Amino acid sequence: MSGNVGKRDEVRGTLATLLDGAKFASWRNGLGSPGMTDTRKLYIKSFGCQMNVYDSRRMADALAPEGYVETASAAAADLVILNTCHIREKAAEKVYSELGRMRRLKEAAAADGRRLVIAVAGCVAQAEGEEIVRRAPAVDLVFGPQSYHRLPDLLARAARDGKAVDTEFPVDDKFDHLPAASAAATRGRGVASFVTVQEGCDKFCTFCVVPYTRGAEMSRPVQKIVAEVSRLADAGVREVTLIGQNVNAYHGEGPERRPWSLARLLESVAQIDGIDRLRYTTSHPRDMDDALIAAHRDLPQLMPQLHLPVQSGSDRILAAMNRRHTRADYLDIVARLRDARADLALTSDFIVGFPGETEDDFAATLALVGEVGFSGAFSFKYSPRPGTPGADMSDQVAEATKSERLHRLQAAIDRNQAAFNRRCVGRTVDVLFERPGRHPGQIVGRSPYLQPVQVEAPASLIGETAAVTITDVATNSLFGRLTSSSPCRGEVGERSEPGGGLDVAQRMAPPRTANGGSTLPLQGRVKVESAGA
Ligand code: SAM
Ligand code: SF4
Repeated sequence: MSGNVGKRDEVRGTLATLLDGAKFASWRNGLGSPGMTDTRKLYIKSFGCQMNVYDSRRMADALAPEGYVETASAAAADLVILNTCHIREKAAEKVYSELGRMRRLKEAAAADGRRLVIAVAGCVAQAEGEEIVRRAPAVDLVFGPQSYHRLPDLLARAARDGKAVDTEFPVDDKFDHLPAASAAATRGRGVASFVTVQEGCDKFCTFCVVPYTRGAEMSRPVQKIVAEVSRLADAGVREVTLIGQNVNAYHGEGPERRPWSLARLLESVAQIDGIDRLRYTTSHPRDMDDALIAAHRDLPQLMPQLHLPVQSGSDRILAAMNRRHTRADYLDIVARLRDARADLALTSDFIVGFPGETEDDFAATLALVGEVGFSGAFSFKYSPRPGTPGADMSDQVAEATKSERLHRLQAAIDRNQAAFNRRCVGRTVDVLFERPGRHPGQIVGRSPYLQPVQVEAPASLIGETAAVTITDVATNSLFGRLTSSSPCRGEVGERSEPGGGLDVAQRMAPPRTANGGSTLPLQGRVKVESAGA
């Protein structure tokens, strides 16, 4: 009890510092929460992967009881959080240029008599810690991905001490300390949602910083995940994507205190009333076990689309990357997946120009693209990350060679995307409508393959699944009209025999962005601003 009082006083101290005198007095004399008489404005910008998008939402949830509400405008904010990504150098550097902009906003706010608090969260914060404050003195608070449940305390510390840096891997589990989002907040975030089930990585691929920034692999207990998904379903969420750095290494504790596999977890989540669609990402080929493959055959809620990063088609490079799978292993998994679900749309991640990659190695990657018939991919130039073994390898590939290979790889992927989209015209697919479209009278949803589909239809259909006949395609989306028939497990999404639906090379492919790779569409509505890495 006294601890709570102490904590509350500390928070009051923070608020006294953050609010001007009149506003603080109005809060103190009010109903006890700044949310009731006054609000603080929170702007979160999320860089990088879906894990960060999810984390950003949970940070907003952690700050909601403190009276913070989200704003889309950094200039209007009292607190700015940049939730950062360290996976490639470009992603990390983006943070510093964004911090330059935030410093100018902070100066403008100060000239206006306001205090703007700047926080850096996520993997750059974890990797660089104090260095961030040294390079960008306007930053008040730096904290890693394992600390965001402590945000109110960290803000109090920053207000008291001037700055706060927290990059510990705390022993307490952040998920146990985070307040659940309110039903209204959940509804505002849309009908598709991410749920983190696993974090961290023990695989140590030689190019990757994740094991260093996110720490050792951990899985959340089954019952907590089921409770979170049930709350989402009650608030109107219809599609859930279970996420983790290595989601299929999931081994969370089940109700009988034994570890459950991802397949078992999916089966359990599929039984939750209201959850019509399930996905999971990102998977490692090593952890694609028989039960998970069978789930693609047996669970109707599991959408026929899987992101399965391969990185390279060359065994020599896969070994140097410490991927612990060969090209043949990967092809075998793909064959078994397609036996289970013939129309499965497979997407992947590729790195070009890993140290030592020859033209022959790259040719093996291009050949693998043709052989598997990937429907889309993220593709990246290798970026040496400090502290990873790859960065110290002697045979680094020239930047120009990397660019040229990336260009060729993307061209191959784009051809598949265009072919797939063309083949969708005239077919009928189930679309889960998520939000209003760009033009009046239009709404946008997702096909089973995660493609955005634009339809002229009443907004009352948002949150519903309906059968749509695809009438036209653009680079990044499909256009369609509602079919008069009842929702249809359409020809594209149907469990077709090979050859009965789309051929392998013509499956769904995601759109590209300008930032260096073909990219998959981010799923779900994200209230925080999101920027790809
Ligand atoms: N856990 C997943 C797996 O095992 O494939 C991948 C997670 S990682 C966050 C996402 C992707 O970023 C990787 O699949 C890889 O293609 C890319 N990536 C990671 N480190 C990279 C680096 N140093 N340079 C370029 N791309 C990188
Ligand atoms: Fe990074 Fe994925 Fe390899 Fe882990 S398995 S080190 S997250 S690429």
